[in-house]
Amino acid sequence: MRALTVEEARQRATDLALRSYEVAFDLTGDGDTFVTTSRIRFGATSSTSWVDVKPERLISVELNGQTLDTGALDGGRFPLTGLQAENDLVVTAELKYAADGEGLQRSVDAADGRVYTYGMSSLESAPRYFPCFDQPDLKAPYTITVKCPGDWIVLGNGAATRTAPGEWTLAETKPLSTYFVTLVAGPYHQLRSEYDGIPLGLACRQSLKEHLERDAEDLFRTTRDAFDAYHRMFRARYPFGEYWQVFAPDFNLGAMENPGCVTVSDDLVFRGPVTDAERSTRSRILVHEMAHMWFGDLVTMKWWNDMWLNESFAEYMAHRVAEDATSYQGNWVDFAFVRKWWGLQTDQSSSTHPVAPDSLKDARQSLDDFDGISYAKGAAVLKQLAKYLGDDIFLKGVNAHLEAHEYGNADLHEFIAKLTEAGARDLDTWSDQWLRTSGVDTITAERTGAGIVLHRSSPDESRRLHKLSLGAYDADGSAASVDVVIAGDAAEVVLGNDAGVVVPDAGDDTWAKIRLDPTSLANLPTVLPAITDGTTRAVIWNSIRDAVADAELDPRQALELFTAALPHEDSDVAVGSLVRWLEERVLGGYLEYDEARGPLADALGSKLATTAPGSSLQLVTARGLISTTNDIALLRSWLDSSAAPDGLEIDADLRWALVLRLVRLGEFGATEIDAELDRDKSTEGVVQASRCRAALPDGKEAAWTRIMTDPSVGVQELLAAADGFWHPGQAAITAPYVQRFFTDIPPTADIRAGMVVGLTTARIAPRYVIDADLVGPAEALVADGSVNSGIRRKTANFLDDLRRALAVRSTFG
Ligand SMILES: [Zn+2]
Repeated sequence: MRALTVEEARQRATDLALRSYEVAFDLTGDGDTFVTTSRIRFGATSSTSWVDVKPERLISVELNGQTLDTGALDGGRFPLTGLQAENDLVVTAELKYAADGEGLQRSVDAADGRVYTYGMSSLESAPRYFPCFDQPDLKAPYTITVKCPGDWIVLGNGAATRTAPGEWTLAETKPLSTYFVTLVAGPYHQLRSEYDGIPLGLACRQSLKEHLERDAEDLFRTTRDAFDAYHRMFRARYPFGEYWQVFAPDFNLGAMENPGCVTVSDDLVFRGPVTDAERSTRSRILVHEMAHMWFGDLVTMKWWNDMWLNESFAEYMAHRVAEDATSYQGNWVDFAFVRKWWGLQTDQSSSTHPVAPDSLKDARQSLDDFDGISYAKGAAVLKQLAKYLGDDIFLKGVNAHLEAHEYGNADLHEFIAKLTEAGARDLDTWSDQWLRTSGVDTITAERTGAGIVLHRSSPDESRRLHKLSLGAYDADGSAASVDVVIAGDAAEVVLGNDAGVVVPDAGDDTWAKIRLDPTSLANLPTVLPAITDGTTRAVIWNSIRDAVADAELDPRQALELFTAALPHEDSDVAVGSLVRWLEERVLGGYLEYDEARGPLADALGSKLATTAPGSSLQLVTARGLISTTNDIALLRSWLDSSAAPDGLEIDADLRWALVLRLVRLGEFGATEIDAELDRDKSTEGVVQASRCRAALPDGKEAAWTRIMTDPSVGVQELLAAADGFWHPGQAAITAPYVQRFFTDIPPTADIRAGMVVGLTTARIAPRYVIDADLVGPAEALVADGSVNSGIRRKTANFLDDLRRALAVRSTFG
């Protein structure tokens, strides 16, 4: 099925004016399909158009009382002719439940056999479960009715009322875009609250009930705090009635901002101990989705090229509001270590793009741009803009934008116009430098005889202005800082040149690659532990990671720095982010696995002995040790709880991590995995077992076949299998699959659609195989226009990483 192009969308938005949707769902059938009837009233200034529907079977189409031939459906589009000034269209279709997380997802809970559904419409999935005019700028109010089993509850964008056993009506909504219409139906457990006149709700599978209830007050508190903050910032109150946060199964993103009924991945209902960083991240996801109620839902982009207006704004607001108004702190440290590192890598990849691109990709290709640019870089530049303009002008402009376009659509030019009316000056230059161009400048510190000079080099002619602070640090803990503006290719800084370490952009204010001078690099092992600001440590680590990736710094030096700094590192965000980087990039990537694994495991083992019992640091360190140690006796002793560290609860998820490592070490086989699944008969257990089975030497073929050919595997099981498949310690076992990736991955787009296609590709690409012979096949796949764009994008990312690893190995052998 071809995707909607921007030209088609513009024409249809000109031709049609939507009045209303009445959508009736019948979910009472017991097969893998359901029936939907959409009644759409709309005005038209053209006699022809089309309606989108992707059914198993189109049952009937009636336009202005006339029955049309259902055989006219072609590639998900039903042509409409003879349109009048006002029209009444009724389309009934039998549609298939989804297993890939898009459309109307249906999942069976392994714990109790209960069936759950939820609707995911973004980006082009709405016609998979209701006939509609599927594009962001054709908004209309919705009235939804549902028939379902009598023990189900129903939730959606409008408040739900049960009208009879198994029959529900959702209140008419405000005008909505198709991509954020949802329907939640199943025997969900629900919790209600109310705040400031807004009915609040949480929902999850019955089997997660006790875990949700344990955290409900935390979740409601974050929601209340964020509503207060947004109501202080925005003149418009939350406009969509009730506010539900539904933790949904088999969700392939973090969350989705459906007005009134946000859906959230239910792996964020924590069933055991997690780190503070993970709790904080979950809180930020909730705050992010709440920001979308204004930016995205109340005012929506016209086309997907302006999705950054949604995502960058929500991302910036999530960190700002979480830091200023919730009980979770350290949000900008997390931003620097996790999100910014993601964005900096993306901005140096072959697939980078401007935050606000002109290139008007179709609706399917636009999915690829939900990446480190649209989230992290966009958020970083909005943070910069708010600081540069000051909150008075920034929020005045934002509010004027929201008021001018409420319940409608707007683009970048309209946003900039409102900021300008509010008093902003010279935004054209700013947006050219930060929104309209891609790529990242490098800022390098140099010690001169007189002091310090910062050099700026650019990949293009943008000549970006950088406002930042330069920090100077010594091993005794002394620190100094000076503000710098880099407007030319070099800037002299009024600061002595004798500090142990000098760090450009110590406050993480600008968007740049940072390079330390050689003296600072040499002094880092002794000075880094004395730097108390977590954000500055993140800036240093991003500089180190980036220099390694550029083959400028020996990865052994980075690993040594990590082992030197780890004993002093008190941030679970830092340890988690850096261990992940070492596992994903260094062990088996930049360095031979056997060379790098031991020092990392030793360092984590020593660190673990010093962490406080029951602390986040203990948990994150233990996880890192489990996945890197070769000490079978230790792993076994933790698993049977005979010698687990004091305070470390060996819960179901840590048990699975231990089992996975023992499988990878050849100590455990299918019998032990089955036994563990017998202990943990939950959906989460099934997902964990999927990962472990894919790690079995004799489980590779079965896992590969499932991943590449089985459309019925649920999203979480699928991604877990792909995740468990490759490991640098199993290079010989997985060698036969390396070339098969290039031939077997393209057809997966025929059995799945949407986000999960790319997510699977990223995990099942042979990422630990550092072999120049893979460059050719990868290039050919990326260049093949007949292959799904998500597969090509993720293969391009794989190729970028491969080239970097080859360069690092060739430089540092
Ligand atoms: Zn978002």
